[in-house]
Amino acid sequence: MSRIYNFSAGPAVLPEEVLKTAADEMLDFKDSGMSVMEMSHRGKEFKEIIETAEADLRELMNIPDNYKVLFLQGGASLQFAMIPLNLMIQNKKADYIHTGQWTKKAISEAKKYGTVNVIATSEADNYTYIPEPDPASFSKDADYFYIASNNTIYGTRYTDIPDTGDVPLVADMSSNILSEPVDVKKFGVIFAGAQKNIGPAGLTIVIIRDDLIGKAPDNTPSMLNYATHANAGSMYNTPPCYAIYIAGLVFKWIKGKGGMETIKKNNIEKAQILYDYIDSSALFKSPVKKKDRSLMNVPFVCGDKELDAKFIEEASKLGLKSLKGHRTVGGMRASIYNAMPLSGVKTLVAFMQEFEKNNT
Ligand SMILES: *Cc1c(COP(=O)(O)O)cnc(C)c1O
Repeated sequence: MSRIYNFSAGPAVLPEEVLKTAADEMLDFKDSGMSVMEMSHRGKEFKEIIETAEADLRELMNIPDNYKVLFLQGGASLQFAMIPLNLMIQNKKADYIHTGQWTKKAISEAKKYGTVNVIATSEADNYTYIPEPDPASFSKDADYFYIASNNTIYGTRYTDIPDTGDVPLVADMSSNILSEPVDVKKFGVIFAGAQKNIGPAGLTIVIIRDDLIGKAPDNTPSMLNYATHANAGSMYNTPPCYAIYIAGLVFKWIKGKGGMETIKKNNIEKAQILYDYIDSSALFKSPVKKKDRSLMNVPFVCGDKELDAKFIEEASKLGLKSLKGHRTVGGMRASIYNAMPLSGVKTLVAFMQEFEKNNT
């Protein structure tokens, strides 16, 4: 068996230890005689899986008691609609910072429910930075304020979280949840599709403050109402059981590494090696403003489409996979989520050096 270095933006690399545990437990989960995929979600084994996963996530992110953790389906994309459906209620308006394709989709969903104020955007510069709007421009009567904390396609991340006062801050953390500590108290809602930095596709995690639950109109479909899931402990219907199980193993893995501070340190180390090389290179360039560079997704270009294609092809032959940039950005993108080992980044940089030597 040989494993590649997988730089995919998502679904993405998972820790090898987690996959091995899952393999060991595949046919017989802890003497139950069943796979986790085969057991009742109401049985005692699964109850323990979901409760432990939630407790570990709460511990890792230091989630206060007045927040619910929901294990949902529908991807981050369903949250683009559930957020306005559940929260754009009182004044039917919200502020959005527009930083790429994912906020574009979120904005277009929100417009179906009320007024969207796009208070800042980096669209004119192909989303290569995070705009810093004047707080005086924030709507005092917005029902919420929306950001994407890490922009997977463009490789930007917020280093300063906007202070929105009493207006609940909603963050799409799909591609950087659990990559560094966050102060959950600053947010009304945090959501993330699992397939970037948590586990398999099919699970979406929503962390929501209690007072934001229960505002949805009466004709809201039950499945789209946060109250339904909060009241049922994410067991209103069958949850994505196996994805929750793997997510739970990933949370244990992070705890075993030493928790969020260690994970952040590791992520900074990995990202630094890559950015330092790119900045010193005569061939490769990062399009992203330094201050706003993501720790998770690192786009870079040669500035020549043919050379980019050659790089991606040669890298792939060496087992450095899925380095092609998003079709709207071109070039390359290395996604270096928590589960990407340091050796993967070092191997990538060594190949980049070699490629630069041979092609300049
Ligand atoms: C991948 C991604 C999404 C879309 O997630 P789905 O689970 O496919 O709906 C949304 N936002 C961000 C920031 C992402 O990286």
